[in-house]
Amino acid sequence: MKKGISASKGYAIGKVVVKMKTEISIEKRHIDDVIQEKERFQKALELSKSQLEKIKAKAEKEVGKDKAEVFESHIMLLDDVEFAGAVTVKIVNDHVNAESALYDIVDLYMKTFQAMEDEYMRERGADIKDVGSRILANLTGNNSSIIDMENNTVVVAHDLTPSDTAQLDKSKVIAFVTDIGGRTSHSAIMARTLEIPAVVGLNDITDSVKDGDLIIVDGVEGEVIINPDKNTLNTYKIKKENYNKEREKLKALIDVETFTKYGNRVEVFGNIGKPEDVDQVLKNGGEGIGLFRTEFLYMDRDSMPGEEEQFNAYKTVVEKMGKRPVIIRTLDIGGDKKLSYLPVPEEMNPFLGYRAIRLCLDRTDIFKVQLRALLRASVFGNLRIMFPMISSLEEFLKAKEILKECMDELTKEGKSFNKDLQTGIMVEIPAAAVNSDELAKYVDFFSIGTNDLIQYTLAADRMNEKVAYIYNPMHPAVLKLIKMTIEAAHKQGKICGMCGEMAGDENAVETLVEYGLDEFSMSASSILKAKELIMKK
Ligand code: PEP
Ligand code: MG
Repeated sequence: MKKGISASKGYAIGKVVVKMKTEISIEKRHIDDVIQEKERFQKALELSKSQLEKIKAKAEKEVGKDKAEVFESHIMLLDDVEFAGAVTVKIVNDHVNAESALYDIVDLYMKTFQAMEDEYMRERGADIKDVGSRILANLTGNNSSIIDMENNTVVVAHDLTPSDTAQLDKSKVIAFVTDIGGRTSHSAIMARTLEIPAVVGLNDITDSVKDGDLIIVDGVEGEVIINPDKNTLNTYKIKKENYNKEREKLKALIDVETFTKYGNRVEVFGNIGKPEDVDQVLKNGGEGIGLFRTEFLYMDRDSMPGEEEQFNAYKTVVEKMGKRPVIIRTLDIGGDKKLSYLPVPEEMNPFLGYRAIRLCLDRTDIFKVQLRALLRASVFGNLRIMFPMISSLEEFLKAKEILKECMDELTKEGKSFNKDLQTGIMVEIPAAAVNSDELAKYVDFFSIGTNDLIQYTLAADRMNEKVAYIYNPMHPAVLKLIKMTIEAAHKQGKICGMCGEMAGDENAVETLVEYGLDEFSMSASSILKAKELIMKK
């Protein structure tokens, strides 16, 4: 048995196909007829482009326009005259074969991008490598793809690029496992969207298997078993059957309103990062949006999204959700989430530093653009505003003051907004939980952000696997803070929700129901299971 990281849940039992790292050895050759060599390169470029267009169309159908965008950037690179020009110039000037010229130019581009500070730009280096390998494969005729697979295939790879993953034929490839990668790597995200089990970060899985081996992929525990004995195989066949039956059965809960066994109504919402994510929430029976992490609108780009762009994004979400509540969190940038175009000085402890509401209260120019967009979108549905990282009442009141300024501006401009719009805070700093009785008098709602609340309460970095054993949602100190916050809200007749990962944690649901949590918000794929657990309690 080998242990890795669960990237996408579910079980699969199938035959291994190892996708080797395509190490094509590049031989440098002297070329006399450079015109013919240029044409050979041109043909490989065109072939690559038509392949990518097909992959992009397939990805758009299967995983949505947003996730297929990566292929558009690959196609743009093929169309980039500077890139192709540099290769051609090298062929002509150095009288070398196309493979060698391409290899040198891709290497140069990659080094340039990878040396850049900005993470987004560094990732462009990976795109260039991906595109370079495709052209190279087409030049050498070594373009075997992982499209042609037999039924019940488990792809085993060092890593899978987004284009590899999008090419997987879901009717044949039932799972994939990789040597490297984490839960948030591109291929892991794709696996969850495709809803096939995946285990990543297995270190040396490619060295431990060969084509045709039987393999069990346990995407629930993040484990794989190679050539299992009969007993193990039977155990997993049963696990798989039960898991699939359970998923099917859970679908019955899509339109069900959730009540606890005590008869209390509890709402189960979904967390989103982009407007497109709303579809998954609705498909899985989400009764609202409990957290829209708006910082994702600001990431992976070169400049701030303007008021109009933000307005359209928020309007899309609230309209899609109809009457259902949509809690939109204002910008939570800083910590591990940085913007290339908004440089902030290096900090010793970024998680304790200049982030979220602290940054917004300082940079009201940025904050007001978002607040105006949110206000304008509020007339199209049930929109609520939530402020992150609140540590004191003063911060909340200051944020409200700025919101009021925006309301006054819009009124003067004759633009409409919902004057009774609800505003709440995330309780994710222990001080806010301890002081929740006071804060509850002023806010319309609380939403407990356990991802941060746990790390600050237990002084254990949420991203450091070395202290993961300390990072425990069920620690009595964490539970006391949660209970205290829920009770404080109820005392003032206010609602208390939770949008940290703990809300979808199957081991925590019972306790949270007993504490009287009103609203659970989680990733879309956890919603139905949570509904079931809540109804049992
Ligand atoms: C949290 O801290 O629990 C939370 C929901 O916010 P984020 O994970 O974005 O910090
Ligand atoms: Mg947080």
